[in-house]
Parts: sequence; structure tokens; C-alpha cells
Amino acid sequence: MTKADILQILREQEVRFLRLQFTDILGINKNVELPASQFEKALDGEVMFDGSTIEGFTRSEEADMLLKPDYSTFLVFPEELESTHQGRVARLICDIAYPDGRPFEGDPRQVLKAQLERLRRMGFDDLYAGPEPEFFLFTRTPEGDPSTVTHDRAGYFDLAPLDKGEEARREMVNVLVQMGFEIEASHHEVAPGQHEIDFKYSGALRTADNITTFKFVVKKVALKYGLHATFMPKPIAGINGSGLHMHLSLFKGGANAFYDPEGENKLSEVALYFIQGLLEHAEGMVAITNPLVNSYKRLTPGYEAPTSIAWSDSNRSAMIRVPARRGLGTRAEFRAPDPSCNPYLALAVILAAGIDGIKKRELPPPPIERNIYQLSVRDRRKHKVSELPGTLREALEALQKDEVIREALGEHLYKQFLRAKQVEWNSYRSSVHQWELEQYLAEY
Ligand code: ADP
Ligand code: MG
Ligand code: MG
Ligand code: MG
Ligand code: MG
Repeated sequence: MTKADILQILREQEVRFLRLQFTDILGINKNVELPASQFEKALDGEVMFDGSTIEGFTRSEEADMLLKPDYSTFLVFPEELESTHQGRVARLICDIAYPDGRPFEGDPRQVLKAQLERLRRMGFDDLYAGPEPEFFLFTRTPEGDPSTVTHDRAGYFDLAPLDKGEEARREMVNVLVQMGFEIEASHHEVAPGQHEIDFKYSGALRTADNITTFKFVVKKVALKYGLHATFMPKPIAGINGSGLHMHLSLFKGGANAFYDPEGENKLSEVALYFIQGLLEHAEGMVAITNPLVNSYKRLTPGYEAPTSIAWSDSNRSAMIRVPARRGLGTRAEFRAPDPSCNPYLALAVILAAGIDGIKKRELPPPPIERNIYQLSVRDRRKHKVSELPGTLREALEALQKDEVIREALGEHLYKQFLRAKQVEWNSYRSSVHQWELEQYLAEY
């Protein structure tokens, strides 16, 4: 798409507002919205914003930042999603640059691009990533505030009886399809009020763009139905939390480089090295892929979320599973991430870990075929199984020790991220939780 193409579409579809979008380091969608008189300027990448107001972006002396639109992300929102009597709305996802045009090192999207560039220099086409975002739909209070109440009593793959959840989910799918998503499936998840919508894998950059778009659409449609959609990893104790499983494969010369018909289990050495890289850097990575205090409440035994650093051919208790599909569909499924992560940073550190594995050419320990929650101490030793960090604090400590992951994030972003998360941890640590009151108040 060229500038002229986009201007023509904007005119033909009578678009009145253009959102220039990006994410902050925490993965929160941000945008500036421009009226028609500014469209040319926006497309030329001349729109500035004040970076110092965005979480973790800049020091105040380098506040002015340019928004450089990626034309391939252009779309006009379907009328169901965003349209009023005031006119239609379009969007472009942007990279962030200094006023002199240099790319800004605190921009998560460019952190991912840099890893993809490394991968291309190694002769690969792309990292393909297929996400499985899960989320809860809750009711809102009469004042419009989110609750953790769902009137839905359904479970995995259930059909009706349904509350507004299923209707809302259908509309989400409709809107996403109109926006060019190829939806592969949508279904009710295990927990009441929990849903999953799967869309087809793409190159990692497109997938990260898609995940941010997806969150926006899901939240917005939920609102229309009077519901609150949340990507919080574990909103309710005692039932499954929400994950963002990431299916991963590398392609080279148009072929799946994880597939080798001659290899053991028909997996290539590249696949095994990549898996070993994920295992080796799992501890250092989870602060990025599971970035909230709450993320570690999901990573507990018994709820289909991984707790141990291990891989398996098929068992869904493992952190990495290799689904049975071979040929073009050969892939590794990384099951640790949750949907509160910044998808650009998550895919960047995943790729950095995988690249490190390929460079080191180390094979992973043998895969585990049994339920990992029930392994004996002896088996854990044999398969070199260790535990994922149990809290955000442990995850931040592991991140500080992992040079490969730190380097992938870049000094600037790493420091900003660490600082923001340490503040979050300290705030959590010093607050008194409902659980403590229930346990201690009467007894002591
Ligand atoms: P699960 O069996 O874990 O529930 P799903 O069927 O829900 O998995 O999701 C599978 C995901 O894997 C989809 O997003 C799909 O597009 C993606 N996928 C398929 N082939 C590949 C591949 N070669 N590389 C990366 N992702 C892939
Ligand atoms: Mg699934
Ligand atoms: Mg599935
Ligand atoms: Mg699922
Ligand atoms: Mg899965």
C-alpha cells in the first residue's frame, strides 16, 4: 500500500478520524486521533507526541517523539466497531522515532523488529507465531465498573445456555473477520465466563500487531454488550486463569525449518535447538511473558498452566508442547505466556532465546510424556526439570541475571521495565490482602 492508495481509501470511505497507534512498554494500547485535515501529515510520519507522558518511554529531556506509520497495518474499522454519525475511523500502527528520524530504542515494536532482523541475517524467512488468547467476560455494575461476576455456567466447548457472553463472542469474531483476521476457532473455555478466540498464525510482527488489535476489539465489543472483557491472567482463585499460548515455527526458503522427515520424531535440529533456547531462558523471560504480580497466581499446579521448565511431545502440563502436526504445521507451543504481556516484547525475548539456542547448538533433555505435576524427584532430575519463578519478584531477579534477554530488550527499555515492575512489586508487597485478613485477623 502506498500513501496515495491510503489517501484514496480514506476519501472513498469517508473516514473522518485516523488513529495513530502504538503500545507503551507495558503493552497498553495508546493512540493519538487525527481529523481529516491532518491525514497527509500523519502518513508522512510528521506527527509528534509527548513521549514523557507515556509509561516507561523517555526521560523528560527527550520528550518529543515522531510517529512513523507502517502502511501495511492500515485499516478502516468496521462500522459495528467504530462508527458514529461523526464519520468512520481508520488506524495505522506506528513505530516511534526521535525528531531527527532515528528509531527510538524504547519502542517495543522496534525491539521485536531488531530480533527479526537478526533472524533474517541467519538466513531464515521469519518467525511464525500463532497465539491462543483467552479472556474472561464479566458483568458490569450498574455504575459501569467491572466485576468478577459471570452469569454464565458453561465450561469447555459448551454450547448454550448462555448469557450475553456467546452473543458478544460472535460479534467479536464478525468484527475481526471484517478486519482481515482469519479466525480458526472460537470456543468457551474451561472456566465460567472464560473464552478463547484463535486466529491464524502470521509472521511475528504481524502477530504482535494482531494481538494488540485483538485486545482492543474484544474490550470494545464486550462494552457494547454491557460486559467487561479482561485479559488479567488470574481474575478468580480456584479456577483456570487465562493464558496466551504461543505456537512457534521458523521458516527458511518457504519451508518449515522445524520439520525434518528424517529427524527423530520428524523434528529438525533447528527445532530442538530452539526448544533448548526457550528452556534455558525461560526463567529470564517470564518477567516479560508473564509481567504482572497476578501472572504468578496463574502459574500454579492443577490449572493447565505450566509450573516447571520442561518440554513434552504431547502432554499439556509441560511448558513447551510439540503438537502432533508435521509438515508445514510443525511447531512448538510455548504455554507460559499470558495475555497481559506486551506481545512485541514477548515475541522479541522468545525469539532471542530461540536464536541463542540455535547458535549454541545444544540439544534439550529428552521430552517428558507424563503429567509433570506428578513427576517423582528422580524423574525431575533425569529430565533436568526445574521450576519457573513463583513470583514476579523471582522473575525480576532471573531477568537481571539473563544477559541474552537483557540484550534483546536493550539497555534503555530493560531499565525502564525493571524500574516499573519493581515499583509494582513493592506496592504489592506492602499492601495487606484480603487473604491475610481472613487467615489472621480472628486467630491472632
Ligand atoms: P491448541 O491445540 O493448543 O488448543 P489451537 O488449535 O487452539 O491449539 O491453536 C493453534 C495455533 O497454532 C493457531 O493459531 C494456528 O494458526 C497456529 N499454527 C499452525 N501452524 C503453525 C506454524 N507452522 N507456526 C506457528 N503457528 C502455527
Ligand atoms: Mg486452543
Ligand atoms: Mg484448540
Ligand atoms: Mg485454551
Ligand atoms: Mg494451546
